[in-house]
Amino acid sequence: MARAAQRCKVELSALCGPWRLGVLVYSFYRATRVQRESIYVVPVFEDSVFQRRSRFALEQPGPQRQISAAGVILQFGDFELTIIRECTFSLDGGALFGVVPKALWSKTCCVDESNRVKLACNLLLIESPHGAALVETGMGARWNESERKRFQMNTLVDPSNMVASAGLQHSDIEIVILSHLHFDHAGGATTLQDERLVPAFPRAKYYVQRGEREFAQSANARARGSYRSSDYEPLEEAGVLQLIEGDQEILPGVRVMVTGGHTAHHQAVMIESEDKRGIYFADIIPTKDHLSPPWVMGYDHFPLQSCDVKNELLTRAANENWLVIFDHEVGTPWGHVGLSNKGKFEWHPLPADTLQN
Ligand SMILES: [Zn+2]
Repeated sequence: MARAAQRCKVELSALCGPWRLGVLVYSFYRATRVQRESIYVVPVFEDSVFQRRSRFALEQPGPQRQISAAGVILQFGDFELTIIRECTFSLDGGALFGVVPKALWSKTCCVDESNRVKLACNLLLIESPHGAALVETGMGARWNESERKRFQMNTLVDPSNMVASAGLQHSDIEIVILSHLHFDHAGGATTLQDERLVPAFPRAKYYVQRGEREFAQSANARARGSYRSSDYEPLEEAGVLQLIEGDQEILPGVRVMVTGGHTAHHQAVMIESEDKRGIYFADIIPTKDHLSPPWVMGYDHFPLQSCDVKNELLTRAANENWLVIFDHEVGTPWGHVGLSNKGKFEWHPLPADTLQN
């Protein structure tokens, strides 16, 4: 947290002054050649609260609101998208790449002395004219010291307001979409209040596939360790867990699509506004290093299905220039996918300064 805050200050000091900010925004456009998306750069100053959006906002300025931390909002049709980096954590590299030999995967990502690879929990905040939706809730705060140490967990947000970087409060979130119920996705869904677990987003309805909820309860010894009933039972008790069956539109332009693969009822999130399309792959493609369809996580329950679904969705993403978002990428988690003349998927991230959290 302290390191992230420090980094923000360093980066943001370079933004002070409208001149430099203007140059930065202009450079961003030139560098990326992203013609269809535009950004708001929302600077923050150490001891003051920035109360309006940058005057360099390029289209459709939104309502004024207080910004309490740095954040960059991607304008996507009439949606505003923000990545909330909730935490970083580490998992065993072998488990992360399944049957892919270490001799191959270690060329593309760093590994520590314990064979662990650093990951992030990247939540997607979608602000649309129809409401604010948060995709995933990350690890959350309900972990003891030994668990935090085991996962090398580093929480990067204030658990009492994980959407602060977008200038919102938990009570502003009307919809929470959970791709599945593993603890690194649903861990922040509930919170302890007066010694009782309650929904962390008090006004939200939470959407997950009915089959995923049923599986979480009946998971066998191999799968059980990834679920905690404390992440979802309090949602049911509060009557806010919406169990859906199959693909469904949650908000106009925001649709869940069952992918299977990672778990039988795992869902990705498709976003569509005006002429733009995007996808939050969740755990079907967790990082840029999982772009190759056969590079499937060892955690996946149905790895052959993962491979096929990845190939199908990435082909569409490349052909139709979708915005692509990876849930566990520790580098820049959003960008576009290309197809090389050798038929390989290539990653073209948005600039790193579109993620300042
Ligand atoms: Zn998972």
